[in-house]
Amino acid sequence: MFKSVLIIILVVIILFVGRSVLQRLKRAVPAEKSADSKDTVQCLHCKTYIPCNEAIVKDGNTFCSRQHFNDWNRSS
Ligand SMILES: [Zn+2]
Repeated sequence: MFKSVLIIILVVIILFVGRSVLQRLKRAVPAEKSADSKDTVQCLHCKTYIPCNEAIVKDGNTFCSRQHFNDWNRSS
């Protein structure tokens, strides 16, 4: 008896979590499409996350500023 109640509770929790995850995914998809600038990349030098459109990209490496690009070139 106790086992079947536990299973019912588990199923209800899984359904509830699954539904809220689906709702979140539905909301997230149009936001990702409309705002490319929200995608972030990590600066190789200071590990700060910066928007893609503000990043300096050299040879597949990304930097938050020209200063950090120069610093990284000097240190490597
Ligand atoms: Zn940086």
